Amino acid sequence: MSSVVVDKVTKVFNQGRPDEVLALDNVDLTVGDGEFVSLIGPSGCGKSTLLRLVADLIAPTTGTVTVAGKDAGNARKDQAYGIAFQQAGLFEWRTVRRNVELPLELRGVSRSERKARAEQMLQLVGLADFAGHYPGQLSGGMQQRVAIARALAVQPPLLLMDEPFGALDEMTRERLQSELLGICTATKTSVIFVTHSISEAVFLSDRVVVMSARPGRITADVAVTLPSRDDAGRQSPAFFEKITEVRQALRGTPAPITAEA
Ligand code: ADP
Ligand code: MG
Repeated sequence: MSSVVVDKVTKVFNQGRPDEVLALDNVDLTVGDGEFVSLIGPSGCGKSTLLRLVADLIAPTTGTVTVAGKDAGNARKDQAYGIAFQQAGLFEWRTVRRNVELPLELRGVSRSERKARAEQMLQLVGLADFAGHYPGQLSGGMQQRVAIARALAVQPPLLLMDEPFGALDEMTRERLQSELLGICTATKTSVIFVTHSISEAVFLSDRVVVMSARPGRITADVAVTLPSRDDAGRQSPAFFEKITEVRQALRGTPAPITAEA
């Protein structure tokens, strides 16, 4: 079964008003079980909109979204996925550990298991020593890692990630990329991952989906096979070839400023 099927989806914001925006135009996207798919494209091309449609945070204007065989609304109710967005979105009055525990609480997981799972996830993102801190006491990058730990805590079959590593330094970013891949491979988690980084998209993904500037459309779907997803993979000719292929696909889709000039 496919993890996600986006079928002929169009999204219009502010329909019928002078500020009407056609954010997505007739988008089809299928993500297979266990597949890692990145979305890349110029700012404003509708990447976040597409992710928010899958998460049922907004509704399509036309077309349908199916997640794990259910419509997006039922999939959300069944917590069929975990989400980590660009803004960490942590609760300031909860400690780091209790933020990570929150989705487990909502699922009725026992206190001892919650604590153990949260500590394991915090270990993974390198924040084991900060479990008792409050979000306000952490840097932006650390807050983002807490949000990732929280998204992973329920071990969801599908992860939706919107530029989750954007605020991180390069070394932390590469470590988290490897850890994310390790987790997703071990647990057969499907992922839709929004990023601005071509190399990040190529390193992580089975497929890199390239979107064009407004109205957002999918213009290329680049399959990536690397000899390995590690340092050797990052240095392989296949890695550089795919980076070039994605870059050329992106060049075919000028940013709005260029288009209007
Ligand atoms: P991206 O994530 O690729 O940068 P977005 O999905 O955030 O792009 O936005 C796509 C387009 O839709 C942009 O033109 C943006 O201004 C518009 N848009 C996004 N959300 C809303 C909203 N809630 N109301 C009106 N316009 C929106
Ligand atoms: Mg965005």
